[in-house]
Amino acid sequence: MEPICSEIFKLTKEPRIAYFSMEIGIQNNIPTYSGGLGVLAGDTIRSGADLKLPMIAVTLVSKKGYFRQELDKKGGQIELPDYWDPSQYMTLLPTKIFVQIEGRDVAVKAWLNKVISLTGGIIPVLFLDTDVEENTYEDREITSYLYGGDLAYRLKQEIVLGIGGVRMLHELGFEIKKYHMNEGHSSLLTIELLNIYKRPIEDVWDEKLVWDKERIKDLCVFTTHTPIEAGHDKFPYDLIKSIMGELIPFDVLKELGGSEYLNMTLLGLNLSEYINGVAKKHMEVSRNMFPGYEIAAITNGVHSYTWTCDSFKRIYDKYLPGWANEPELFVRVGRIPDEEIWNAHMEAKRKLCDYIKDETGVRFNPEILTIGFARRATAYKRLDLLFSNIERLERIGTGKLQIVYAGKAHPKDLQGKKLIELIFSFKEILKDKIKMAYLKNYDMEIALKLVSGVDIWLNTPLRPREASGTSGMKAAHNGVLNFSVLDGWWIEGHIEGFTGWSIGPPPTETKLIENMDTRDADDLYNKLEYIIIPLFYNDRFAWIRMMQNAIGKNAYYFNSHRMMRRYVTEAYIR
Ligand SMILES: *Cc1c(COP(=O)(O)O)cnc(C)c1O
Repeated sequence: MEPICSEIFKLTKEPRIAYFSMEIGIQNNIPTYSGGLGVLAGDTIRSGADLKLPMIAVTLVSKKGYFRQELDKKGGQIELPDYWDPSQYMTLLPTKIFVQIEGRDVAVKAWLNKVISLTGGIIPVLFLDTDVEENTYEDREITSYLYGGDLAYRLKQEIVLGIGGVRMLHELGFEIKKYHMNEGHSSLLTIELLNIYKRPIEDVWDEKLVWDKERIKDLCVFTTHTPIEAGHDKFPYDLIKSIMGELIPFDVLKELGGSEYLNMTLLGLNLSEYINGVAKKHMEVSRNMFPGYEIAAITNGVHSYTWTCDSFKRIYDKYLPGWANEPELFVRVGRIPDEEIWNAHMEAKRKLCDYIKDETGVRFNPEILTIGFARRATAYKRLDLLFSNIERLERIGTGKLQIVYAGKAHPKDLQGKKLIELIFSFKEILKDKIKMAYLKNYDMEIALKLVSGVDIWLNTPLRPREASGTSGMKAAHNGVLNFSVLDGWWIEGHIEGFTGWSIGPPPTETKLIENMDTRDADDLYNKLEYIIIPLFYNDRFAWIRMMQNAIGKNAYYFNSHRMMRRYVTEAYIR
């Protein structure tokens, strides 16, 4: 006990920014993330540690992970629990706090993981866990599955994260300067803060003023990631009443979180002084969705060192020493000789081809133009846009293209699962003409192999559904060219024919037209046929120039070091 306590004591000496996220991708073998949001949280912490920022992160332990994906012969998704053992990676703290759920006192413990940077920066990460002997069987399961269960289960998780998280930080003795909510899952932390900073009743003349909203707003920062109304967490008040109880009077809660449902985004917005979206376009979309709120934009970035493959790390070390902690040095990418860039790329590509062969038996040829597409399998991402006109794809691509896919569908997203099966069927149809593979169980490790080992990173979301997207930024770090719909970050990163290519209309065109899919697909095929394929096979010099531009213009900017410097100056120090 003694060393742990003194360790915590050391960490509590300095006031910190508390970063709350339902999911965090700390490392690949800790499967407490499902996708972009969690990986971004991990990159936030990794850059925070590199920059020696005084932060602490709070999340749930999700002991059965999100899920491990198996795929049957036809692409049917099989979901298995992704067990992991926290004691292998972190220390159980001797402290215990309680939250009230359905009138029961539920005990919550915490595991301490430390993200340690080579610069000497350290960010502690607390993984909250209700698997405590004294809890009922049901309560012990609250922190088992990330995004599992029903609405009641989700609410219980959010109580543990938001309310339990604040209590744990206080119990451990941390002094918190700011609370940063990464999406609405942790918004209940504001309720706990309202209670902590409640003014004594005799000091005030109006009962509403007991709740010191201004003080809480001063303490809170909110980042929204959801560009559509339906994506925001909402709970009916009868559920809130039976599960959480009346922690603050319901009339006050309704004023803050919405009259019909408790909208967790609204709650976060109403109690945060600083609010941001994750790309400039997403800021506009969020402002329209929540009129009257001052919403800023800090465009996402990725952690450069984490998302650069070994062969590119070597050439960056050689020509741009110090790049990992100063990604601005990518501006000098022109110093790297063309053939070294190409060799680094081919090394990554051969590794990916080997991996694809080992995993699927399909033999990719490293000399052939390779398209990569990996993201959550869900309708708006339009996994199947590339196959809208399969005869045309066949004509354009036979012998000249190979395509690799990866991505999980949420267990309840039946349409998403159908899309995976659809991709499998195209794989069969095209078998002898265009080689295709679908890699199972997309995770951070596979992501790095893909974003460094293909030539083109394809992204075809239905606008404006992609709040930011980050995998394309990872691709740019490895000289892989983006070919994407103008949505999210790509609106800011795209220079046509210079950093990559767009698909479909400019972002200024916002009206939805009926045959959007056909129009986008036509553009996709035209550029593949007349621009991208000829460039790849006939003008390697120009292709490598574009790879350099992706690094010098995109990786240079879309990294999480730049992102964190902006969070510090615009959100944390105010
Ligand atoms: C980066 C990453 C994502 C997010 O990428 P998008 O471009 O937002 O789809 C999702 N999953 C994994 C495993 C990642 O590494």
